[in-house]
Amino acid sequence: MTGFPSKEDAQKIAEQTLDDYGNYVNDGMARLYRFMGLDGIEWENSGAVVKDIYGKEYIDCAGYGVFIHGHRHPKVVAAVKEQLDRVALSNRTLPSKPVTVLARLLAEITPGRLQYSFFCNSGTEAMEGALKLARVYSGRKEFVSTLGGFHGKSFGALSASGRELYREPFYPLVPGFNHVPYGDLQAMEQAVNQETAAVILEPIQGEGGVLFPPEDYLQGVRDICNDQGALLIMDEIQSGLGRTGKLFACQHWGVEPDILCLSKALGGGVVPLGAFVATPEVFEPFNTNPYLHSSTFGGNPLACAAGCAAIKALLEEGLVERAARLGDYMMDRLQALKEKYPRVIAAVRGRGLLVGVEFVNDGAGGCMISNLLDMGVIVLHSLNNHKVIRIMPPAVISDEMLDRALTAFADSVAMVDQVIEQL
Ligand code: PLP
Repeated sequence: MTGFPSKEDAQKIAEQTLDDYGNYVNDGMARLYRFMGLDGIEWENSGAVVKDIYGKEYIDCAGYGVFIHGHRHPKVVAAVKEQLDRVALSNRTLPSKPVTVLARLLAEITPGRLQYSFFCNSGTEAMEGALKLARVYSGRKEFVSTLGGFHGKSFGALSASGRELYREPFYPLVPGFNHVPYGDLQAMEQAVNQETAAVILEPIQGEGGVLFPPEDYLQGVRDICNDQGALLIMDEIQSGLGRTGKLFACQHWGVEPDILCLSKALGGGVVPLGAFVATPEVFEPFNTNPYLHSSTFGGNPLACAAGCAAIKALLEEGLVERAARLGDYMMDRLQALKEKYPRVIAAVRGRGLLVGVEFVNDGAGGCMISNLLDMGVIVLHSLNNHKVIRIMPPAVISDEMLDRALTAFADSVAMVDQVIEQL
């Protein structure tokens, strides 16, 4: 713990930080922070709580889906500190142990015959590697992904993503990507053929607005891929590692991918870490030529120590089961709120601690985010669906704190309802 500066010093630090954002990081972001009144910079986080430099507390129900373990989980922090005292970044000449321990753990917990892991530092890198592996394994050049899907913003991942707003300014993207409506098996069947290297799919679309496919969809896509000899790449960068109340969201439907992409929670909310995990057959080209795809920092000891501790903590502390239980409770309360305020809330969707609330009106989401910030609760917009805000608390949040967050949410919905009445 670092403690807090005096109010006067805090003001100076905060003003300097926002000025520096504007001058050296990103002026648009600086303006957005100021517009939202977010001038108390992030100072000290722990568990489900984020504190700003003035000591104001926020319950973190956002964190872009990273913090299923909460902030600075003690077991993850301890593992990273211990690793830091021996080898921080690998020299990469001698074999490194942490990467093997993490890869073995992933082989044990991931579904089906997924076995070989390649480690990187973010979600989009995991997707890039998975796309390259699918091409080199299959000798095919085409991909099918879904409208509204989000897979990252580097060129390959952006080519797979399904929202024009983020794609169009960067044309031409990687050729050979075809997008079909999410949940539409017929469209998928028409799009996948013997030129298709892989289908890229989120089992639940996160940035698309927490969208669930029809019950038979994932198995249907699996069957189509099998029929056409195409691979199935599951993007569980957001939904993976307990977030939806199972270790992996594809397990809700019993469907096994050929390549699984992970990131966000994999580093335990302490160190950035991404990975794709593939079956031995599919990974074969990278086994044959280990330098075909590489990353200087991918699989570094600090990140892998964090990853091992993160997985162990999930399992030892029953965080996946807790995510399922808290998620059911949240859904009950939010459904009741939807019944009470039908002119504000259009739909509530969720599994575990990945929950989306869709609003009837366009502006309601932004208004809710702002109200809730004032009340000390952080929720999240959806990049590909502005009518939906996501509530994604950590599984370590206490029952009492979750109640507080949901009560603030209910108060905020009531305020929006009042505004609508006066229109
Ligand atoms: N895939 C999904 C499903 C995501 O939700 C995200 C990020 O939100 C990504 C990929 C990209 O991850 P990153 O921002 O770490 O590149």
